[in-house]
Amino acid sequence: MKKILQDLSYAEMEGLVLSLGEKKFRAKQLYEGLTQGKTIDGITSLSKAFKEKLLEVYENQPVKISETFYAQDGTEKYLFELADGNLVEGVLMKYKYGYTQCVSTQVGCRMGCKFCASTLGGLVRNLTAGEILSQILVVNALHKKDAEGDGKTARAVTNIVLMGSGEPLDNYDEVVKFLKNVTAEEGARISARNISLSTCGIVPKMYRLADEGIPLNLTVSLHATSDEDRVRTMPVAKAYKIEEILKACAYYFQKTGRRYYFEYTLIDGENCDEEHAKALVALLKGKPCHVNLIRLNEVKERELKSISDKAAYRFLGVLEKGGLSATLRRQIGVEIGGACGQLRASYIEEKR
Ligand code: SAH
Repeated sequence: MKKILQDLSYAEMEGLVLSLGEKKFRAKQLYEGLTQGKTIDGITSLSKAFKEKLLEVYENQPVKISETFYAQDGTEKYLFELADGNLVEGVLMKYKYGYTQCVSTQVGCRMGCKFCASTLGGLVRNLTAGEILSQILVVNALHKKDAEGDGKTARAVTNIVLMGSGEPLDNYDEVVKFLKNVTAEEGARISARNISLSTCGIVPKMYRLADEGIPLNLTVSLHATSDEDRVRTMPVAKAYKIEEILKACAYYFQKTGRRYYFEYTLIDGENCDEEHAKALVALLKGKPCHVNLIRLNEVKERELKSISDKAAYRFLGVLEKGGLSATLRRQIGVEIGGACGQLRASYIEEKR
């Protein structure tokens, strides 16, 4: 596989351009072109000779949209093809305040959560920072007409969630590099405050992230109120206890001043009785956090079942009565395989 130009920061691109004997301002043209989702080939302000030199070493288009699926509610789901033929998926959700894109950080995942489709075939490989970024750049280009702002700085995607396939903190260095590049003034300029990173709770990396000083929204997939319960659906619970996760969250708040989030997927017979809701209140009461309840997207390879809307609202009611800040996430794009890894899994199966 060739190298990926979108991995580079603006400063690195300036260095590259100079090393190839071009004037420094070419870096600006190159960076702007790539930020607009163009291929190297498609950047008209650069000379053919320079582009040919670049193309000897770098991928012309590291991420392509190979399929798009449309849901009734406007949600779009993409299957992205990487240069080596691997597939990852992404979702675009349209809200009044802007577009939120869900991106993948790994091909597959090795965390093994029992309810999740991304983990069915294990981890294939990490994505590079530029492959994560390119998912956003191509979608921005696709929705150019919906962009906010004007001219070259216009962007359609205003918010990002790292909740596609993969465990972001298991690909720490590339993810942090991506975060720096996507928030950079010269680049896509997405505010870190509009970015949510979701982790299954890799505690040492949560501390490291707090120390990076990137003011993003940290989200932890909790899905249980005790370690014994948690380990049934999340093998990572063997390595890190809920208590340690909560300490790392407190450190995150102390360092960044930002409240943190928990995701709690409601799984029938597993974690959503009244006693679980009460235990969740006891665990999180008084902490600067918010709980997002998610209805399980049933994955056909898995036996776990979702609960009724009524039961989900009842669970929410107990949390609210207990004084927690909590919401039940609107279910979007279910008919297009909204859940993590579902689309890729069914697509690969079909092709076989
Ligand atoms: N690895 C990260 C991010 C990817 S998953 C993490 O664990 O947080 C994003 C969120 O979707 C997580 O909270 C995950 O637990 C949840 N999720 C995965 N599969 C799901 C499913 N089938 N139904 C509902 N939520 C699911």
